[in-house]
Amino acid sequence: MIYSEDTIAAISTPVGIGGIGIVRISGKDAFTIAQKAFVGRKSFNEIKSHSISLGKIIDSITGEVIDEVLLTKMNGPNSYTKEDIVEINCHGGLVSLRLILELVINLGARLAEPGEFTKRAFLNGRIDLSQAEAVIDIINATSDKGSKAAVVQLEGFLADRIREYRDKLIKLMAHIEVTVDYPEDDIEEITGQQVYNESNVILKDLKSLSNSFERGRLIKEGINLVISGRPNVGKSSLLNTLAGKNKAIVSDIPGTTRDFVEEYINIRGIQVKIIDTAGIRETNDEVEKIGVDRAKEAVKRADINIVIIDGSEGIRPEDDEIIKGAENENTLTIINKVDKAEGKTLQEIREALKNRKLLLVSAKTGQGLDELENEIAGLAEKDDVNKSNEILVTNIRHKKLIDIAVESLNEACVAYEAGMPLDCLSIDIKNSADYLGQIIGESVNEDIIKEIFSRFCIGK
Ligand code: GDP
Repeated sequence: MIYSEDTIAAISTPVGIGGIGIVRISGKDAFTIAQKAFVGRKSFNEIKSHSISLGKIIDSITGEVIDEVLLTKMNGPNSYTKEDIVEINCHGGLVSLRLILELVINLGARLAEPGEFTKRAFLNGRIDLSQAEAVIDIINATSDKGSKAAVVQLEGFLADRIREYRDKLIKLMAHIEVTVDYPEDDIEEITGQQVYNESNVILKDLKSLSNSFERGRLIKEGINLVISGRPNVGKSSLLNTLAGKNKAIVSDIPGTTRDFVEEYINIRGIQVKIIDTAGIRETNDEVEKIGVDRAKEAVKRADINIVIIDGSEGIRPEDDEIIKGAENENTLTIINKVDKAEGKTLQEIREALKNRKLLLVSAKTGQGLDELENEIAGLAEKDDVNKSNEILVTNIRHKKLIDIAVESLNEACVAYEAGMPLDCLSIDIKNSADYLGQIIGESVNEDIIKEIFSRFCIGK
């Protein structure tokens, strides 16, 4: 399928100026091309595989030196793509990288498509499709935990698990077929009841894998944290202090932070998307009404809600709706401006909100912020997302395939309960196995592969 044998090349480091840049070449002519461009102390053929050599890249037409480089030679199949690979580490300027790439292309390589190196690794059987997808996730990870979940997937733990369930289904199917097709032979027959029981065991495992997606999503995409409070309680200030930079506009006029301000921050290795709402309150202003409705919606969808009360003013009637709007176990209630709050006001707030744990904070002085961060991390991890090497489904494609595999297997069970013959169950079991196969790239069509690799950057 879709595998071309030509030699590909690309700049594998980001566009821009950096200390070093890498041009990568992969394919059957990688060594011949590099040999023509590289002049080092040793001749190219003498360079050992997986070693680095100092030398120069020379323009084969003008004879001019393009750059001084370090060259790495990797003999296939012991390489990322399983093909011969050469990596040229040159100076990371725009010109040097471009000239080297142009030279390599003039010498016979083709510019690689996005993700084509990883696609070759997949097509050559070095990694399966779920591992290739993990490579994108590692590159795009924005938090330690997101990256870790992707590394676990790259190591093949998810693929092993999927393969295990798929193999069980295929065995089951084979057993049914033998029983149905060769009833007179002397083989141990399988009964509908046995198929039903085994299917149910696999179903339970598949469902629990599917359920891990919610946690997987939180880790990969980050946690949605919504800050609400009436105008002027210090939402933007808290957001700014947490983010450590001035993105939201801080102002003394109530209602100025009308639209949502979003900020991504990392709290204890977890990515948190903080959304500062416009404040939920009764209003006749049409524009503001839309903002308020959206704020209510955001509160409903949030993974964590922070409700802020102004400790220097105490609870006002406008606070009531906001406080009532968020009162589940994922809510943190904060009294802000404790630096200028009077003891009496704080006491009144405490009495009014006896049933809530209150965090005393000052967005201005930073008081209480460490504790707030601990609480946020605690809520984010309450499902034990921190377990090391836990297999989590983080990819929506995988989740959907597991879910339809579950559906098919369920149909087999329903068919058994309805008294259908054995061979009818086998069709649903086969479908279920096929869906699982698509996760790891067996029984998957070319369009899907194309779509997956198009999401990569060039050079990976
Ligand atoms: P928002 O409308 O809820 O986003 O409130 P802002 O963040 O714009 O803050 C309103 C005003 O309160 C600004 O003048 C802030 O400087 C001030 N403010 C916010 N947090 C604190 C705090 O912890 N202590 C004090 N003294 N002032 C604060």
